[in-house]
Amino acid sequence: MKDRQDVALVAGGAGFIGSHLCRALLDKGFEVICMDNLQTSRAINLERLESERAFTFFRADIVDPLPDAVTRRRDISRIYNLACAASPPQYQVDPEHTMLTNVVGTDRLLRLAEQNGARFLLTSTSEVYGDPETHPQREDYRGWVNCTGPRACYDEGKRAAEAIAFDFARLERAEVRVARIFNTYGPNMHPDDGRVISNLLCQALSGEDITIYGDGSQTRSFCFVSDMVDGLIRLMEVDMPDSKPVNLGNPEEYTILELVERIVAETGTTSAVIHRPLPVDDPRRRRPDIRRARTLLDWEPRILLDEGLRVTCDFFAEEICARHAEHGG
Ligand code: UDP
Repeated sequence: MKDRQDVALVAGGAGFIGSHLCRALLDKGFEVICMDNLQTSRAINLERLESERAFTFFRADIVDPLPDAVTRRRDISRIYNLACAASPPQYQVDPEHTMLTNVVGTDRLLRLAEQNGARFLLTSTSEVYGDPETHPQREDYRGWVNCTGPRACYDEGKRAAEAIAFDFARLERAEVRVARIFNTYGPNMHPDDGRVISNLLCQALSGEDITIYGDGSQTRSFCFVSDMVDGLIRLMEVDMPDSKPVNLGNPEEYTILELVERIVAETGTTSAVIHRPLPVDDPRRRRPDIRRARTLLDWEPRILLDEGLRVTCDFFAEEICARHAEHGG
């Protein structure tokens, strides 16, 4: 048992991964301060958390000065930064805000970590590798990123966020951890998020056309959210020899066509499968090399794609029913 309750701040805590992380931290006995601007996340994700005494929510945007009630504190020991729209169509809606969230927002949270003597974890992304020339992607690969393209606000924003975080670490202003998160899925994803698993499951469940962008031969590797949260907490808590980045993701790689097959099998849908143009700068292949996470964190994903899809499918089926009920359908 802990002598006193450790305090964790989760920026982006109402989001898909953030809401699961808040739950897990409460279950581990942390007091949790959640900040979120609710731009792409949903207050409904917090419904079951808000009744907990150890949970506080601030609606706040990390681009703006942080709430006084947060900056006044000196007892925060862990700061997780998950605040940023993460789906390509969402983060491209206001690219300047996406960039500032990563640069200004990360800087504000790092200063807060410095003030509190807190450990800081940045959720970076596989997108720092861009459209990779090496496969699978190892942490020492420096990436093939287009700084003039529509993904740059996110890719380059996260790369800048990593740069600031490593400067804080080098100057011993804060103890830093950097997770490079690969595609993750599970309950609490926003149905209108625009990412492949939410899109395809919702389309299949609603009998709408299933949209494959391009020919569907591009690959991704999908990690179930409980595995991801476990990896994030391990990374935060482990004593590391350095603060170098750690890939977190599931190394099982699928083409989008293979994913569609599994979704069709899981839902039994009769939806038609159609093709749409491939978005600009869409990476061809993506699979994490997770040897560093295995060694340092004794971590690897446990949930197989079919198992994760089943749970996620149940979640979206309920969401769709609730929407129909709301609209009297
Ligand atoms: N994709 C697709 N149909 C969709 C949504 C996405 O075929 O309805 C493709 C997309 O072009 C990409 C892959 O699925 O190749 C994963 O896209 P997502 O937006 O989930 O994330 P990304 O890995 O590109 O950041």
